[in-house]
Amino acid sequence: MTPPRRPSRKRGRPGRPAKQLTSQPTSRNAYSDTRQWLLKQHGPVCAYCETRLKPEKMTLDHVTPRRGQTAYDRRDNLVLACPDCNKRKADLHILAFLVARPQRAANLLRYGDHLSPMLLDLAREIAGPEAVALAAKLADPDYPYSD
Ligand SMILES: [Zn+2]
Repeated sequence: MTPPRRPSRKRGRPGRPAKQLTSQPTSRNAYSDTRQWLLKQHGPVCAYCETRLKPEKMTLDHVTPRRGQTAYDRRDNLVLACPDCNKRKADLHILAFLVARPQRAANLLRYGDHLSPMLLDLAREIAGPEAVALAAKLADPDYPYSD
């Protein structure tokens, strides 16, 4: 048996109110939100070189460059960086930047665990297994790997 429908009784759908489009450019807000969130997570630490500065000195860095992607300012593509690293990285692809100094990749694993899986895979690959194990240990003292 199908439940009886009552087309005769027009109540108007108690449905969802038409959603407002929220795709207006809010990058500035998203930026400062992400900045605050990162500062809270890790403190004012550069995700590449571990330099600690005053919070107001830290910059927000796009791990992968924008390249016309619309989602580039998502949180999983942003880290805190010192002005120095930000400047050094400016013209480099993230891959080249990390390979030039693998310690950056190791640091990124530690201070960028919110990044997209793709970026974390990249960082792991460059940092090498020891750095990966270390980052995991730092994140979890009961990490089971002991060799
Ligand atoms: Zn730095």
